[in-house]
Amino acid sequence: MAKEKNILYSGIEYLKGVGPKRAELLKAELGIRYFKDLLYFFPFRYTDRTHFVKIKDILADGISVQLKGILIEKEIIGGKNKRNRLGARLKDDTGYIDLIWFQGVKWLKSSLKEGQEYIVYGKVSMSYGKKTIVHPEIELLNEDAIKRNVVLSPVYSSTEKLTKNGLSSRAITKLTYNLLYVLQNEIIKDSLPEYLLSELKLISAKKALFYIHFPKNSNELKLAENRLKFEELFFLQLRLLFSKISRKKRLIGHKFSSLGKYFNGFYEQKLPFELTGAQKKVIKEIRIDLKRGIHMNRLLQGDVGSGKTIVALMVVLMALDNDFQACFMAPTEILAQQHFFSIEKMVSGLGINIAFLSGSVKGKKRASILNSLSEGSIDILIGTHALIEDWVIFKNLGIVIIDEQHRFGVKQRAKLWRKGNKYPPHVLVMTATPIPRTLSMTLYGDLDISIIDELPPGRKEIKTLHFYDSKRPKLIKFIEKEIGKGRQIYVVYPLIEESEKLDLKNLEEGYENLLHYFPRPKYQMSIVHGRMKPADKELEMQRFKKGKTQILVGTTVIEVGVDVANASVMVIENAERFGLSQLHQLRGRVGRGAEQSYCILMSSFKLSKDAKERLSTMVRTNNGFEIAEVDMRLRGPGDIEGVRQSGLLDLKLANIVQDENILRAARSKCINILKEDPKLELEKNKRLKDYILKNKHLFLSWGRIS
Ligand code: ADP
Ligand code: MG
Repeated sequence: MAKEKNILYSGIEYLKGVGPKRAELLKAELGIRYFKDLLYFFPFRYTDRTHFVKIKDILADGISVQLKGILIEKEIIGGKNKRNRLGARLKDDTGYIDLIWFQGVKWLKSSLKEGQEYIVYGKVSMSYGKKTIVHPEIELLNEDAIKRNVVLSPVYSSTEKLTKNGLSSRAITKLTYNLLYVLQNEIIKDSLPEYLLSELKLISAKKALFYIHFPKNSNELKLAENRLKFEELFFLQLRLLFSKISRKKRLIGHKFSSLGKYFNGFYEQKLPFELTGAQKKVIKEIRIDLKRGIHMNRLLQGDVGSGKTIVALMVVLMALDNDFQACFMAPTEILAQQHFFSIEKMVSGLGINIAFLSGSVKGKKRASILNSLSEGSIDILIGTHALIEDWVIFKNLGIVIIDEQHRFGVKQRAKLWRKGNKYPPHVLVMTATPIPRTLSMTLYGDLDISIIDELPPGRKEIKTLHFYDSKRPKLIKFIEKEIGKGRQIYVVYPLIEESEKLDLKNLEEGYENLLHYFPRPKYQMSIVHGRMKPADKELEMQRFKKGKTQILVGTTVIEVGVDVANASVMVIENAERFGLSQLHQLRGRVGRGAEQSYCILMSSFKLSKDAKERLSTMVRTNNGFEIAEVDMRLRGPGDIEGVRQSGLLDLKLANIVQDENILRAARSKCINILKEDPKLELEKNKRLKDYILKNKHLFLSWGRIS
């Protein structure tokens, strides 16, 4: 054991072919300090050198081939500016090919031997039937060379600096080869339990590490990749799930043991509509959580318009029934106010005291709210970021609802956490940005998730159309018609100012243009963008909300949660410039009333392949989860909120999109293991326990503050 440890932690300078200077470089450029680091520095691709091509079979120009043959002649050819090159000819039993080098001519001339057999690898160029390879790799054919070459040959990522100093991918290949030679008789401890390996038919760590560098064929490569990807995803899951268990054990929370007059009163007298099945299911999940006296940290996902607000309200009432206060936080003043007014209306007559607080509430009014809050006479506080300032003190805060979580930073959430007394308040975070299920189970492995996957009945599907700019006259007519019916229209632009490089129709130009077709005083327009003062923005929004203007021209500031039921058309200009989830969010601003709603995607004629797919996805479906899946496939998971903190991107080999099956397997194994052995005390799980002890720093639960 000790020996194994020693050898993997030998300094890289002790590896044959490295030495102090190269060791410095490897450390600085690639972070490789020990043998172990090089062992885990995997190739990023392979060139297929599993077989030799016969010279006569080379038919196409520009392909890379590996040949085997006898060097029959070589000569230095004088070139322009006295630049000599070396020409040589290689022959196999089917024909011959010319080889040319411009560099290292002298050295090559003296070392290449006519009449000897060589392995040659390079890109062929053909002209008039004459076959040539410029700057081929060439190596004397012997047993060692065969071993190293007749495989899927690894290609390592190198840096310019490394290459300049003789550490090209090829050189790294040699080092890795030396390393594996040294390790071949050493024990390399496996981090996965034996029984797991045999259950899943995974190869050992040692075998996998050897195969991943020098697979003899695609099967070996596959075995190695499978094993190593599984390992990565498994330990990621173990980290998340193990933290979750310990969080549950550690964190006691307020116990909302009973429902009383608020919840029941609301449910029996005030509920404005029948809840959907999904809403009921989610309320039940949360109810069970809150009864247990364990801290709740839950994410509520539901597409735009799925009715998260009423769920949140009913959860708030559970807190009130148990003599706790609740707060409800939204990312913008507009949204917070919207929640305030609608909730106030919904609970009127139940004897509940609600207050609104934001940065704009000042002076006496603020002082009085703060006072009542700390005395406990305010039951529900609704507002913006202002709620988490230190001077906001609750008497007995039981639960915090956070709407549209992606607008809040981790720090802000941590601040909230400290607002409870005795125990931290329960946290319910709501988001309308659907996260692909595969991702959310990984990402939020240590968070509980509830999903509303059903829209309230009677909602008409939003019709989505894609128009090229040439159809603008049609668009104008359409807007005119809808306004004629009394509807209101959003028009959204990606930019505020004209960018010279990207010839985009910007907001102001678009606004002018619309004014031309929809002149005052017959029509009225609002304009909203990020550079406006908040008060002006607010005023314009309110005018639109109250129906005083028919068209709201804006940038994506209107994206989040604004609720204007009478707005039935969302026009998105330069739609090709928006990401899928943003398009979907924007579309969600319409379709809130009873009328048929439309989303019109305007774009130029020239579209990239991805842009085409984004737009056609929008036209095809309204389902947020489906859209999220496509989005993740197109962009990769890197841009999805929370992925970075989760460590999901630090994976060397696995890719959570492409390796979904492995991810599922890893997760379900992990769940089963922890179910049977939550503390990992069984002898058979010793390796897992060891992993956790060794990697304690990775087990900080970031979920605690999400
Ligand atoms: P979101 O999930 O986007 O926050 P909201 O909570 O704002 O959605 O709900 C959208 C609209 O649907 C609101 O006008 C709300 O009153 C209505 N609504 C919510 N649940 C139902 C239901 N079960 N039946 C009918 N209408 C509902
Ligand atoms: Mg909402």
